[in-house]
Amino acid sequence: MVEAKGLYYRYSKNGDYVLHDLNFSIERGEFVFVIGASGAGKSTLFKLLIREIVPIKGTLKVFGHDLARMPRYRVPYLRRNIGMVFQDFRLLEDRTAFENIAFAMQVTGASRREIKRRVPYVLEMVGLLDKAHSRVCDLSGGEQQRVGLARAIINRPAMIIADEPTGNLDPDNSYEIMNILRSFNMRGTTVLVATHDQEMVNYLKKRVIRLEKGRVVADEAKGVYAGAL
Ligand code: ADP
Repeated sequence: MVEAKGLYYRYSKNGDYVLHDLNFSIERGEFVFVIGASGAGKSTLFKLLIREIVPIKGTLKVFGHDLARMPRYRVPYLRRNIGMVFQDFRLLEDRTAFENIAFAMQVTGASRREIKRRVPYVLEMVGLLDKAHSRVCDLSGGEQQRVGLARAIINRPAMIIADEPTGNLDPDNSYEIMNILRSFNMRGTTVLVATHDQEMVNYLKKRVIRLEKGRVVADEAKGVYAGAL
């Protein structure tokens, strides 16, 4: 599903590499945490995965396609298969939960009928059916992130990537968000989560890829978040 081989990235021609020689692969159906201190390279790796930026050296394959060679017209198809979740939610605040999720379906050309059927189903999956018609600005942070999760899964992506999804939430809401991500994963979606949240990593006991200064320094099947970060 994802394969990095000798992957390097730097933001400017004469700058330092911020990712050095990354080598790992992620299989379909895995749940993987990417951990590391601020500046370790987690967001850069995620930007590469959605081809917001292009590898400098090495290969990065996603769904079997080499992203360095992917023509521009293919990028929307790649992104359609990746659901994104953000620390700051990135929702349309003055729209309802339903509208935010429906919008993500509309842009793929889904019919009104499909939207009417699927949005409530997905709202139910994240436990927010009763808030379908509340405006996002009237929802709590935890509820807003559940809208974010519903939006990420709505088009049945093969993979979800979540960048610090619990970064703005209290522990109770964080557990809830992680449990929903785990439920998506149990239904077959591959999930990648970048986080600082030691408690969540130790709670879920999933694979952990640890980055330090742009290098993979550990890759453990049932990792724990040990050591000072
Ligand atoms: P993390 O997500 O783990 O905090 P980042 O991927 O954001 O790490 O950052 C990795 C390194 O790349 C850091 O040294 C950061 O300063 C640098 N960096 C990130 N974004 C840019 C950018 N747009 N231009 C230049 N350097 C950047």
